[in-house]
Amino acid sequence: MAASHSNITVLTSSQAIINGTITPGTIVTDSTTGKITQVHEKVLPPSAFPAGTVYRDYSPKVLMPGLVDAHVHLNEPGWRTEWEGFETGTRAAAFGGVTTVVDMPLNAIPPTTTVENLHLKVAAARGQCWVDVGFYGGVIPGNEKDLKDLVSEGVRGFKCFLIDSGVEEFPAVSTEDVAKAMEELKDQDTVLMFHAEKLPPLSMSVGDAVLHGDAPLAPTGPLDEYLTFLASRPPAFETYALADIIASAPIAPNLPLHIVHLSAIQCLPMLKEAQEKGIKLTAETCFHYLALAAEDIKNGDTRHKCCPPIRERANADGLWDALKDGLITTVVSDHSPCTPNLKVVGGGDFFQAWGGISTVGLGLSVLWTEGKKRGVDLCQISKWTSEETARQVGLLGQKGKIAVGYDADICIFDPESSFKVTTSEMHFKNKITPYEAKVLDGIVCETWLRGKQIYSKDTGFDETAGPLGSLLLEKRQQETVPIATTLSAPVAIEEIKAVNLNAVVSTVEIQQS
Ligand SMILES: [Zn+2]
Repeated sequence: MAASHSNITVLTSSQAIINGTITPGTIVTDSTTGKITQVHEKVLPPSAFPAGTVYRDYSPKVLMPGLVDAHVHLNEPGWRTEWEGFETGTRAAAFGGVTTVVDMPLNAIPPTTTVENLHLKVAAARGQCWVDVGFYGGVIPGNEKDLKDLVSEGVRGFKCFLIDSGVEEFPAVSTEDVAKAMEELKDQDTVLMFHAEKLPPLSMSVGDAVLHGDAPLAPTGPLDEYLTFLASRPPAFETYALADIIASAPIAPNLPLHIVHLSAIQCLPMLKEAQEKGIKLTAETCFHYLALAAEDIKNGDTRHKCCPPIRERANADGLWDALKDGLITTVVSDHSPCTPNLKVVGGGDFFQAWGGISTVGLGLSVLWTEGKKRGVDLCQISKWTSEETARQVGLLGQKGKIAVGYDADICIFDPESSFKVTTSEMHFKNKITPYEAKVLDGIVCETWLRGKQIYSKDTGFDETAGPLGSLLLEKRQQETVPIATTLSAPVAIEEIKAVNLNAVVSTVEIQQS
């Protein structure tokens, strides 16, 4: 009876990213539960399924897990909603095969530093999100008693700044504030993340008050020269911050610590040493630190301003090596837009311009374009942008992999095509990005969220269905794989057993990690 199987959709291709390799693959999804119910490492024909089953063969395009962008600023609610909002930011994500974004606690007003404020953000997000959205909480001076309640309300982790954040309602924390936050969070299932730039010891002589000041270092050259800006945010800011974090780590030895947007390669030996000592410390870097280089940034082109800054090409080389070695585990967008006037577009003053780069939805193509020149394959890229980012935010088991029991979040990617970035490829609110007019390799053809197609290159967004994204507010769980739902398609029993066996094996492995 076809009707009893009408909730089954089958996606297949000669190329799919399953268990960390590219293989022929068939994915059976249940649109009622939104879950993946079967995964086969072969192309099964339509005849393997009941009549009436939706069956799509995408060969030779690549079926890959939807990306989990663990670092975006959507800026809503409050007046900075003119910079970005849930509707536009998540639409941009869906365009780029991103099926989950995690929103940073600052730039919206109020910032996500209390449960009350989180509730305001959640209310603003409801009904607007094209992809699933999780939320981080913020650590600011004096809010340590709010942190456990935020954990209970489902924040995916916490972010704090060790240097001026650029917005007054989200002040930097001192070493003492970090210690208080660690005490509160030390037995919680969460992650504490750091914007790891800090003024080095020379400035320590004036105490923590300096953290709340303006530009960390006065410019020593023309304000429109990129190298003047670069020199004002030296690698020493990052290494000093990292040393401080590592020194604090023993306060909460079981609490995962994470460096957001690591830029300077001088941090890498410190990170390695800390990890070897057993400190639970991870790091992410961003698409722009890997794909862009200071040497190429024209003076006055403030679209490239972000903090920490985009450094020299040799620095990018080192970041790629660290990814390949597994020292850095994730790549995120740090999508942080603003309006053209605040970005000083055309004005050229790097010190006046807002620091932040718009990338959400372009990252996969950006990384593929640069990565394939460096011998990187799509499996590695998928690991850095889906599996490991899902792990970082406590969603592995639900997101980030094509596996039985996972959400059917699928990106259909054509690595052989390319496109030029114009405003029609920028779905974020303000059409400003350093990738404008660049040609990127690899096109996202379709994006599926929990078993439903939400975007197609050919037909656009499903405006009739509207935004189908859920807000991810369940408390973080220990990593487990959900129990596979009942298999309902007539596949050979041997295959079904094989699939279930694999699922059981991976459950055991994950629970041990
Ligand atoms: Zn950020």
